[in-house]
Amino acid sequence: MTDPTCPFCRIAAGSLPADLVATDESWVAFRDLHPQAPVHVLVVPRRHLASAVDLEADPALAGALLAAVVRVARREGLEERGYRVVTNVGREGGQTVAHLHFHLLGGRPCRWPPG
Ligand code: AMP
Ligand code: ZN
Repeated sequence: MTDPTCPFCRIAAGSLPADLVATDESWVAFRDLHPQAPVHVLVVPRRHLASAVDLEADPALAGALLAAVVRVARREGLEERGYRVVTNVGREGGQTVAHLHFHLLGGRPCRWPPG
């Protein structure tokens, strides 16, 4: 299902411009508008899901999205150096866009704890 008010639904539908890096039948990957690392890509399902909470009901999609992140990371040349995969959930998790997305961050050392 698509929400016409949701920016990531609109990117998936092609009605909001984005710097796409890869697409598939169930997901799209595009560069973050405000990159926090030299490589900062968001992988999102085409279907509107609010957050990772909704993946409990769809483990096949969960697997497809994580496999997509790994594939994009390899294509971005991050496999040797390593990278970080993040999904923020809800208010205290720091989620600002209510459409499930995995952040792929790489190209610089990541610190821990992330804050
Ligand atoms: P989060 O805070 O985890 O919900 O992450 C939302 C991310 O989406 C932020 O890193 C934003 O910079 C990014 N973002 C918001 N709108 C767009 C957009 N139209 N195109 C690309 N990235 C976006
Ligand atoms: Zn959406």
